[in-house]
Amino acid sequence: MSDVAASNPEAYRIARRKMVEAQLKARGINEPRLLEAMGRVPRHFFVDEALAAQSYSDSPLPIGYGQTISQPYIVAFMIEALALAAADRVLEIGSGSGYQTAILAALSGEVFAVERLKPIFLKGRANLEKLGLSNIRLKLDDGTLGWPEMAPYDVIIVAAGGPKAPPPLIEQLAPGGRLIVPVGPSADKQQLLFLRKDSQGGLSRSLLGGCRFVNLVGRHGW
Ligand code: SAH
Repeated sequence: MSDVAASNPEAYRIARRKMVEAQLKARGINEPRLLEAMGRVPRHFFVDEALAAQSYSDSPLPIGYGQTISQPYIVAFMIEALALAAADRVLEIGSGSGYQTAILAALSGEVFAVERLKPIFLKGRANLEKLGLSNIRLKLDDGTLGWPEMAPYDVIIVAAGGPKAPPPLIEQLAPGGRLIVPVGPSADKQQLLFLRKDSQGGLSRSLLGGCRFVNLVGRHGW
């Protein structure tokens, strides 16, 4: 996108529509509410101005402090796997820029989002305030501990990779709840782990494929 086009909201709308077609639908994402939300939420609000023209590209982008805003496809893939219902209570760990937080908020009842790095937390909060979403609560903390005061959650989504699923997150999952977390011994050997808690509290696990996330740093992370 040229600089002239980048300052034009219509050009962003077109770039977003292309992103939905070429990066999401063409790769098998088909949940209509999710596609609608990703076609609507302005990803360019969530990156620095210098990167705004790249904000609908098929890749993660730097958000400072060695962290990244996730690639649109991986956001869509994880959220589709979690099968969000409109009234679900969601816990998000590693809210970063706030982009995925905004998509989750569009699809669920309430989002509780935790970020551990203060400058990124402040940026993410400012980005979300610009959008005026009311069903989001943010906290600056180590998200590997979850957010016990607000538990239980129907859905927990972790946007950074750790050695294992943090036990407090499993505890804070409601019966029928779903958790997705990248796990693996190093960044180039991560897999997306999907856990479901049944109505008796039993857990089923599956691996949804390889991925590459920044480190989950904390008490139950690295
Ligand atoms: N969903 C975000 C992804 C940001 S990258 C986005 O699209 O912008 C992952 C984020 O996880 C980083 O901001 C990093 O600081 C944060 N993070 C890493 N370990 C964490 C922890 N233990 N608790 C909370 N956030 C954590």
